[in-house]
Amino acid sequence: MKQKKMKLASKDVKIMFETNLQNIQQIAISSLSADDFKQQLLKDLHLEGEIPLSPDKENLKRLILHDGMTIKEASTEKMIKLETITCLYNFLTGKGNIEDYNPDFLFDVYKQFEESTCSQSTLPDKKQMIRWMKRWDSGTDSKIIEIRKENKQRIINRLIERIDKHQYEKSRYAFPPGISFIEKQEMVNKWWSDFRFHLSMAARSSRELNHLMGDTFSDEMKAIYQTAKKKGIPIFVTPYYLSLMDISENNYDDAALRSYVFYSQNLVDTFGNIKAWEKEDQVEAGKPNAAGWLVPEGHNIHRRYPEVAILIPDTIGRACGGLCASCQRLYDFQSGRFNFDMEALKPKITWDSKLKQLMKYFLEDKQLRDILITGGDALMSRNASLKKILEAVYVMAKQKHHDNKKRPLGEKYAEIQRVRLGTRLPVYLPMRINDELITILSDFKKKAIKIGISQFFIQTHFQTPLEITPEVRDGIRKLDAAGWTVTNQLVYNVAASRRGHTAKLRRELNKIGVLCYYTFSVKGFEENHAVFTPNSRSLQEQKEEKIFGQINATEATQLIKNLNNNGSHEKGINQLEKKFDLPFLATDRNVMNLPGIGKSMTFNLVAIMPDGCRLLAFSHDSTRRHSPVISDKPIVYIKENKSLAEYIRQLSDMGEKISDYSSIWKYNTGKTEPRFAFYEYPKPAEEYTTDYSNIDQQSH
Ligand code: SF4
Repeated sequence: MKQKKMKLASKDVKIMFETNLQNIQQIAISSLSADDFKQQLLKDLHLEGEIPLSPDKENLKRLILHDGMTIKEASTEKMIKLETITCLYNFLTGKGNIEDYNPDFLFDVYKQFEESTCSQSTLPDKKQMIRWMKRWDSGTDSKIIEIRKENKQRIINRLIERIDKHQYEKSRYAFPPGISFIEKQEMVNKWWSDFRFHLSMAARSSRELNHLMGDTFSDEMKAIYQTAKKKGIPIFVTPYYLSLMDISENNYDDAALRSYVFYSQNLVDTFGNIKAWEKEDQVEAGKPNAAGWLVPEGHNIHRRYPEVAILIPDTIGRACGGLCASCQRLYDFQSGRFNFDMEALKPKITWDSKLKQLMKYFLEDKQLRDILITGGDALMSRNASLKKILEAVYVMAKQKHHDNKKRPLGEKYAEIQRVRLGTRLPVYLPMRINDELITILSDFKKKAIKIGISQFFIQTHFQTPLEITPEVRDGIRKLDAAGWTVTNQLVYNVAASRRGHTAKLRRELNKIGVLCYYTFSVKGFEENHAVFTPNSRSLQEQKEEKIFGQINATEATQLIKNLNNNGSHEKGINQLEKKFDLPFLATDRNVMNLPGIGKSMTFNLVAIMPDGCRLLAFSHDSTRRHSPVISDKPIVYIKENKSLAEYIRQLSDMGEKISDYSSIWKYNTGKTEPRFAFYEYPKPAEEYTTDYSNIDQQSH
């Protein structure tokens, strides 16, 4: 099948049906109605009854049986009628104007029928996967390091102009009068290794952004940013991060960097109407959230699972080291709750008493084991603030441990076993990992381990191997030496979804001792249209590329031993990869964060909408505990915001070979992968109570 440019017209697909799927065309013509067509398909394709079917036939049967159903789509909460087969019937029998049928819809439906009759794709082998990996550069390659030295110098020169022009008198980053340009360069070079310099000099307007990018913005980008300005969308990109980009656009492919911090037209158009994708993040005083949890007032705690609470402090931690274009908290930036006004975000006096209240909530909770301190960005909090928060967590956890001693067996509350810091600063600003921070983290670990906290994670967020620079490597090594495990959560946007890109990222992360934790599908709202990758591609990656890094039980046991005993994650991981000849470790799970039910990749394709977008029926991840409210939850229906055909066209425009992705159409059923055992909570010495607290009793 030739589909080089994936630019088919409806009449082309009609010819494809007439040529390659004559039987389907014939069934349509001989059917009296769409309902009759469905019945005939079930009969003629032998899809009736309870007999086990191949996955492709099962998929077809599902599309037929869902036709005519009306469902509530979870992200928009709109009722949608599913009419995949009815639309196909109308098309094949010549009803309406042929040009009114979207070719993206028609082609995907065609592929579903084609797969069920003549599925013949082969899986890529390891050699092919390695070839795909080799296409991508890493930030530690000497060629890239050299180019970035020049980038840095160019940016430093521009910053000198800016400092000269504005004469930041009160700033610590001002030049003494009368010094030469060379001396200025030396000063800025020194400031470059101080993260505060980057925060203070971050581009906050499109003009500054373009200036630091060597005035290379296209007219299209300028127009997007002009609208962004009118709409009041914050802009915040640090000089360090900008120095990673290739302004010549000839040296290396930096699309994954650009699409992460530069805004798309969709984002700018939608800003102002962005909603929380994860409904449980919407908190109303005194009311349970979408997962049934009662959380204290004030947007400081988000909660989905029984064991986990997300703590968002009222500190500079409500800012970030950059504004990520696909951020799931964009609605918080939209409301101004998160922002880049570092002065205004300094903790108020009331924060101390609020922190006490939040710890009381944790202390009295019966199921909580895991606190994820995030924001914004946990490491944006100053060291003193972070120390205070960690100390509060320690005191609370110690008290919980102590209180449990008095409780009888069967009534013991869950104790805190894991503390996590959610941060992208190791990527945006590796110089943030300074000695003082390392002392705080190692001191906390030393005492927390004595009261039963045994897992210490820095949960970070690398998008591309180009983000792994020598500075990053040094920072990660320091965190590793402090005894904190660094894990990665990747957002699987279009640039990151290109063949071999994620595999290479896993490889490069493993090299510096970082374990992969999640590969997240981009949430499906319109603001993310440009960067959204359909879930079928994530499944394809999971089955065709990531598979070469999967570890069996023996390897997993050995790895956990290495991680726990070796003292260095970098060594522990690399020893294992060498021993078992693994290209990387696939310790992450490909998942989508779903409104109301948490993460899952367990879904079925149930319809293809007239615009070509797929409608997926998700069920929650059965491998982990959920809020008791979730057990009654029905299937969650999600309409993706981009058709597979549109996605493939995007890849093609980026220079990808379409044939490399040709099996994508058949990925229509997903299953959430099991969790790597290292990410499980340790078994407590004495069983915890099965009772819940802080849950809405009515929904329970
Ligand atoms: S660091 Fe996290 S919270 Fe901050 S903008 Fe990026 S994705 Fe959003």
